[in-house]
Amino acid sequence: MDQVLLVEDDVATRDWLAGLLSGEGGVQVAHACGTVAEALAWLHAGHRVDIVLTDLGLPDGSGLQVIRAASRRANCDVLVLSIFGDESNVLAAIDAGASGYLLKDGSLDSIREHLDCLKSGGSPLSPRIARTLIRRTRAQEAALAAERVVPDGTAEPLLSERERDVLTGIGKGFSYAEVAEALKITTNTVRTHVRHLYEKLAVNSRAEALYEYNRRMVEQGQTPIR
Ligand code: CA
Repeated sequence: MDQVLLVEDDVATRDWLAGLLSGEGGVQVAHACGTVAEALAWLHAGHRVDIVLTDLGLPDGSGLQVIRAASRRANCDVLVLSIFGDESNVLAAIDAGASGYLLKDGSLDSIREHLDCLKSGGSPLSPRIARTLIRRTRAQEAALAAERVVPDGTAEPLLSERERDVLTGIGKGFSYAEVAEALKITTNTVRTHVRHLYEKLAVNSRAEALYEYNRRMVEQGQTPIR
């Protein structure tokens, strides 16, 4: 049975969660407390714990301290329960080692589902948190794309001319040897170009490479490979 440490300073919420969990098979609330100090003391005492459910805003400190201590334990997953859904809290919690983040809203009603998700290697996230992370990823991608734009305002080509030639060849279904012969380079050089262009496009196959390259070309208003 999975042993749960519950860290929540609001007594009503803590009791409600403990009640919710005790009604479920497969998990057992090993300890419930309301401060960072109590949680750390319990963790340091070496009790077995499989899941830590922790609030972030605690009276004597931050739940981040609990997350850090818990995530150092082997086979211990941390799930944050918080009223804070802003980017900095979410990122700080993930950075500290949390595997999931639920807002104290309707998300908690299906806490058991979230725990199952956590134990099977998933990351339970409230929909609003998932949105925050998606927005963040998009902003990062946009920043990276902006960095790729060279000072005169034109975008640096995604692939070198040679890489594009190689992609054109393999995209048409030619073998590496055939592409090598057509371009008058060695098969090994073709292989190197392929490795580089796969890396640049973050793909693992020629079909994906062609698709991804053309998608980006169209997006940038440039000519795709036919
Ligand atoms: Ca609190």
